Amino acid sequence: MKEKKFKHIETKLIHSGEPEPRVQGAVSMPIFQSAMFETRKEEGYHDIQYIRLNNTPNARALHEKLAAIEGAEDALVASSGMAAISTTLLTFLHNGDHLLVQNCLYGGTHDFVTKDLQTFGISYDFIDGNDPESWEKKRRPNTKAIYVETMTNPMLEVADHKAVVKFAKKHDLVSMIDNTFASPINFRPMEHGFDLSLHSGTKYLNGHSDIVAGAVIGNSELISKVKHRLDHLGGSLDPHACFLLHRGMKTLALRMKQHNESALKIARFLEEHNVVAKVNYPGLMSHPQHNRAGELFDGFSGMLSFEPKGGKTAAEQFMKNVSIPIITVSLGGVESLLTRPAATSHSGMSPEDRKRLGITEGLIRVSVGVEATEDLIEDFAEAFEAIRTVASIH
Ligand SMILES: *Cc1c(COP(=O)(O)O)cnc(C)c1O
Repeated sequence: MKEKKFKHIETKLIHSGEPEPRVQGAVSMPIFQSAMFETRKEEGYHDIQYIRLNNTPNARALHEKLAAIEGAEDALVASSGMAAISTTLLTFLHNGDHLLVQNCLYGGTHDFVTKDLQTFGISYDFIDGNDPESWEKKRRPNTKAIYVETMTNPMLEVADHKAVVKFAKKHDLVSMIDNTFASPINFRPMEHGFDLSLHSGTKYLNGHSDIVAGAVIGNSELISKVKHRLDHLGGSLDPHACFLLHRGMKTLALRMKQHNESALKIARFLEEHNVVAKVNYPGLMSHPQHNRAGELFDGFSGMLSFEPKGGKTAAEQFMKNVSIPIITVSLGGVESLLTRPAATSHSGMSPEDRKRLGITEGLIRVSVGVEATEDLIEDFAEAFEAIRTVASIH
């Protein structure tokens, strides 16, 4: 048989990790709904094939596919993004260790770091992702890891990722990046020297708003360490969710192309609209790290945030007046979604902290779906007309 070469990510998404030979010739990876598999030889505990050990056929196929698309040796799926993140942090940080972590984190990660880690005797310091000079002062002899996100939520800031990798290598820290917002289509952390890439598979990887899943990607040595911890903490992904994630991932490249293109057009439309005070999108020239984002990413993703003039009232009116996007948290699916972070994802944060990060009461976050861009722009334009009076713009 001709050797198969999968060079581009689009091809890898479809063909990497698929069973060889195909199971009974099945073109689509079947669901192996079996908790355990017959023992073939005497093996150790971590080799027993059992769903919790993330080593049954559906999980294995995904591990290979995920590793292939981010150009890594190995990967691991988990029952949620938070299972992947918390398990990874608890793998590399132990009692007495210290973590450097970016100051604008996904809400669940923020709470895990600030509230849960201390109960394990693990301390942390926040760092400004855009100020590498300031990191050395925060480093301690017991610092073991540095943790950042590809783009922050909801301000879409892009940290100095090259400096993060350099700093980690210099001080022998494990570098971890939550790559959920970019997806492997737009950014592949291993290509830039990161040790571990983390994902909420709930978002772009699956893309259909119908499962919760997570992933960790990296070299075999690090992934086997995370696997041992995950085996015991128990956050494995069940075969049916594996199947859905697997199916969703096959269209990741197509979906991201549309997310990237549509979000850029919508961001430009918003920036020019006179009812809009501010737009945050790394693809815009006005974004503070636009050049860096252009250098690092192959696309700017489908996430953006903006503030209508007229603050909270105008934002609430806008959200009542749109007809296509769904008002809800989460992101990365085929449907466009809107949320007001001050009232949802960042409501637990003090008003001062929100203000410091630029998360105003009127800020709206948009997860641009794959609907026709023209329909979304028309819908937004009509909703803006409806809020003109509230925003007192004539
Ligand atoms: C959603 C999300 C998570 C958490 O993922 P779950 O699948 O909900 O556990 C982590 N990081 C980022 C950036 C996210 O958007």
